[in-house]
Amino acid sequence: TAKEVSEAKGGRVQLSGLSKEYGGFRAVDHVTIDIAAGEFVTVLGPSGSGKTTVLMMIAGLVEPSAGAITIGGRDVTHLRPQHRNLGVVFQSYALFPHLTAAENIAFPLRMRRRGEAEIRQKVEDVLDLVRLPNVAQRLPGQLSGGQQQRVALARALVFDPPVLLLDEPLSALDKKLRENMQFEIRELHRNLGVTVINVTHDQTEALVMSDRVIIMQDGRVVQSGSPSELYERPKSNFVADFLGTSNFLKGELELQEAQRPDGWSLVTAGGLRCRVPESARGSKGRACLMLRPERIMLNSAAEMEERFEGRVAEIAYTGNIIRYRVALNDQEIVEVTLQNKPGHVPQASIGSQVTIGWNLEDVHIFVESTTD
Ligand code: ATP
Repeated sequence: TAKEVSEAKGGRVQLSGLSKEYGGFRAVDHVTIDIAAGEFVTVLGPSGSGKTTVLMMIAGLVEPSAGAITIGGRDVTHLRPQHRNLGVVFQSYALFPHLTAAENIAFPLRMRRRGEAEIRQKVEDVLDLVRLPNVAQRLPGQLSGGQQQRVALARALVFDPPVLLLDEPLSALDKKLRENMQFEIRELHRNLGVTVINVTHDQTEALVMSDRVIIMQDGRVVQSGSPSELYERPKSNFVADFLGTSNFLKGELELQEAQRPDGWSLVTAGGLRCRVPESARGSKGRACLMLRPERIMLNSAAEMEERFEGRVAEIAYTGNIIRYRVALNDQEIVEVTLQNKPGHVPQASIGSQVTIGWNLEDVHIFVESTTD
């Protein structure tokens, strides 16, 4: 039964001060991450940020220049990959083309010299688990991309590893299949309790699948948190820009003497004066104001704390949402998204004058440099 497979329990993974240098170049720079047993963590970042290198070091395929890795409390920093007992689904770990799906999946068990009866049972269980009945005797070339991915997943899970490493496992699949697999892998994770460390540059995938997302930039961890924490409270321009759509208004923070003590605003190059939330009050200097497009009201801004007149520059219909680009002051452009809900009527046409507005609690401020 699948029950036996589901007895696998996750292992805690600790990376401390992990670095990797290539020549003089630091691909990974002092990464410290504590991953709880059973947690589903995704490392997300742009190309070249060091995600894959981190995963390869955990797998034992790349030797760290500094730092340590423990898995389940055991220091594995200098262990060979095959002694780390990790399930791995990497692009570079393709299926063996000359072995059937079942033999591919059995492979890790054969390496571990398990008995024939146990192997047969385990392979059957794990095929069930990844929802792959009836294709066990086919060669990889006779399977669809999605089926091959399931076989790879089954091969990684068949020996009940405490930790599963995934490197862009779904990137080769089409959109629909990828979305389905995201939910299936999540469900698998929930049922198995295995610790999952997933690497991707796909923000939606990271948000959909993970308990926690770790964002990397230039070899460093810049922020980590639950999907909603990262989206609602990005700590930097970079994180806000990388995760979701953002409107940025750049300018100078200024205190208007007449309005002390709450008169702090950000004044853009175009002369737009936007009030800022309490968190940014008391600083002076260059700053960037960020607003999510779904937090801006269009033509129904009467009750909003901040309001501006604008002109619709562009409208894009994308099915579930309608995106408006509105020019304020004829300079700053902000994007406003409206849900295409029942009864939604297009509220403006290109060129028309509109009022937009937002509440101060939805304003994020990133101070870039402080004068004083
Ligand atoms: P991608 O999403 O493109 O895979 P990534 O975030 O996974 O990117 P890595 O593959 O970890 O990034 O690479 C991080 C940096 O280290 C890159 O600048 C890359 O060019 C460099 N790098 C990776 N492997 C090597 C290597 N074997 N020799 C030299 N430089 C390397």
